Amino acid sequence: MKLANTRATPTSQDRAAQLRRDQEAAPKLRTLFPMVEQLHFDLRFEGGGSSTPVPQSRILHPPARAHFTFPCPYSDCNGGFDLAAVVDTAIASPSRRIEGVMECPGMRGGDSGSKVPCGLHLHFTLMAVCSPSH
Ligand SMILES: [Zn+2]
Repeated sequence: MKLANTRATPTSQDRAAQLRRDQEAAPKLRTLFPMVEQLHFDLRFEGGGSSTPVPQSRILHPPARAHFTFPCPYSDCNGGFDLAAVVDTAIASPSRRIEGVMECPGMRGGDSGSKVPCGLHLHFTLMAVCSPSH
């Protein structure tokens, strides 16, 4: 076993694998929020450099894993957006809807190997569709 070549720098593949593990370990949406029929995420991005990532939409259904961390769309960034608290707030609010802005806390690898703060802004809209019996 050669330890000398082991680098601690996580690749985007490692990040994806870690995210998948977290996702598989998360409880199902219907376990955590039995009244929720659908969670609708609209994600728009702003800033962060020369190319702005395209908007994303995600819809989660009750059998889906209740895992609300979205990785930063920049492949060289180690950050992400944790919307778990936002989901809680949206479900607890009478309108079942919440909008907000979040900044990516990650660092991006520069060409020279130096790291720069990502600073990508996420504009999110979250809608929770809940069953009327709850
Ligand atoms: Zn980022």
